[in-house]
Amino acid sequence: MQAQQLATNAELQLDEQAYGQDPIADRETDLYRGEYIMSFVEKWDELIDWDARADSEGQFFMDVLRARGKETVLDVATGTGFHSVRLTKAGFNVTSADGSAAMLAKAFENGQKRGMILKTVQADWRWLNRDIQGKYDAIICLGNSFTHLHDEKDRRRALAEFYAALKHDGILIIDQRNYDAMLDNKDYSNKHKYYYAGKKVTAEPDYLDEGLARFKYSFPDGAEFTLNMCPVRKNYMRQLLSEAGFERVRTYGDFQETFAETDPDFFIHIAEKS
Ligand code: SAM
Repeated sequence: MQAQQLATNAELQLDEQAYGQDPIADRETDLYRGEYIMSFVEKWDELIDWDARADSEGQFFMDVLRARGKETVLDVATGTGFHSVRLTKAGFNVTSADGSAAMLAKAFENGQKRGMILKTVQADWRWLNRDIQGKYDAIICLGNSFTHLHDEKDRRRALAEFYAALKHDGILIIDQRNYDAMLDNKDYSNKHKYYYAGKKVTAEPDYLDEGLARFKYSFPDGAEFTLNMCPVRKNYMRQLLSEAGFERVRTYGDFQETFAETDPDFFIHIAEKS
């Protein structure tokens, strides 16, 4: 789908994040559409330094894909296109999907700026196979995206859709914040402020309970945006992946195979279908 078509979608017109009277009570899977409003997306991308992010990630995802001979990649959480663009540049055949029209429009523009036409598809994970065509060698769902799903039935449904969109020997790469550390260490938020792009954006937990991790993103001009995420624990996530049918699930902590449970900020799960 082209960016121009996407731009007709209603959520592109929102100028305020769409929370109810009590944002802490907003725990629905559909919330993401009203959270990624254009002003948030624009500001985010203006400040996040793609080169710095690429440096900190290194070749991890490329190496995982190449080591297993994977070529066709479905990026189900394209966002503004960081991984889609990187993998396309590295020679992978990438399809870029996302449920948010605002995000996909920005990703398309980011691809164009770098001389590529991203193949974009607007698709919610819960109905993924209705909107995409064919089967893929690999699916990536990165940037803590999966934790936008607030209901267990939606998590199971999304994983079933990912499973079905993969070839018989396909792999799924999903990452998540280390919510175990956040939930188990009461002083976590004081110790862990996330700085992006040379300290221009801070992201910190604003509210936390077993069912909600609300993050606040503060920008240098005083603008603030929030995201309501579901703090899924690492072993629960691994169990969901196994129960979705994946034969092997390997979990890395901040790109390392060996890690102390409380140390990493992010876990990366690599789930293999066979
Ligand atoms: N992967 C990108 C990155 O790392 O920069 C974007 C991450 S952003 C935190 C999460 C993305 O997941 C958003 O673009 C959002 O629209 C998408 N998303 C959240 N829930 C979704 C759903 N149910 N179906 C499809 N996309 C969804």
